[in-house]
Amino acid sequence: MSDGTSVAKTDPKVINGKAFAEGLRAKLAQQVATLKEKHGFVPGLAVVLVGEDPASKVYVRNKGEQTKASGMASFEHKLDAATSQADLLSLIDRLNKDPKVHGQLPVPKQIDPQAIIDAIDPDKDVDGFHVVNAGRLATGGKGLVPCTPYGCLLLLKDRLGDLSGKHAVVIGRSNIVGKPMAQLLLNESCTVTIAHSKTKDLPGEVRRADIVVAAVGRPEMVKGDWIKEGAVVIDVGINRIERDGKAKLVGDVDYASCYPKASAITPVPGGVGPMTIALLLNNTLIAACRQHKVAVPE
Ligand code: NAP
Repeated sequence: MSDGTSVAKTDPKVINGKAFAEGLRAKLAQQVATLKEKHGFVPGLAVVLVGEDPASKVYVRNKGEQTKASGMASFEHKLDAATSQADLLSLIDRLNKDPKVHGQLPVPKQIDPQAIIDAIDPDKDVDGFHVVNAGRLATGGKGLVPCTPYGCLLLLKDRLGDLSGKHAVVIGRSNIVGKPMAQLLLNESCTVTIAHSKTKDLPGEVRRADIVVAAVGRPEMVKGDWIKEGAVVIDVGINRIERDGKAKLVGDVDYASCYPKASAITPVPGGVGPMTIALLLNNTLIAACRQHKVAVPE
């Protein structure tokens, strides 16, 4: 009952994001094979890494491996930490024009990230961060949806089916997780509360929720006595802490105290985390199909 993917395999209360993501990636590989056979192209994902950030390097390596495993083309661009904004913008311009590339993720450090996001062709913006895609999500248009909240939504729908009328509390209002998550839940006809650091009575708000999504970046902040009996708890948080002299990965939810109250809960690791890259590949497939004007294979 404590945490982790091994438990998720045997305990039906634990939402096994790792297995769900594996299923998604297996389906993607079939869809990519169909595109190649019927239409003669494969989706291509370009990843741009600026500098040597160790966590980003691991993430980029995993993305590259999973992209290739799905049969898509992977283009990695590793740039020096001192790369100028002008040079990065010029690379993005080339990728925007490259017909083999259907998505890209620049991770600049010393460069204005907004200027980089703004420069990406919205139809290749597989992270869904461009203002055009945020606008499409808000207005019901056909855009590209940010991967982490998209993954959370799939896990929720898999568990609950119709979300209509549920009261959802999203803790966190970042542009990459909290806000798009709230928008997706609103689009599913949930009644949505968005909580943040200035929320007056956070435990009281969370106690009213049928669905709790925690995207805060504070280790084990959400406590069991905040959770309504039977609520579904989605933990987006990834926090590295030290406990009993050992490094440990924990979420924003205090798993041990929330587990007994929840009807379903994501563990950390093995819950939301593995969904992000799977949805990135899914967005790459969608972007490629739209650019080639073909339907996404069943
Ligand atoms: P972020 O940009 O730092 O946003 C955090 C949000 O939490 C802000 O809206 C902030 O409120 C709110 N907050 C901070 N302290 C709070 C408190 N005491 N009470 C209520 N709200 C509080 O973080 P993020 O990028 O959204 O990421 C959130 C977490 O998800 C992090 O742990 C991150 O590592 C993880 N994450 C995981 C994945 C994945 O693949 N699983 C992907 C992305 C992020 P204000 O707006 O008022 O400051």
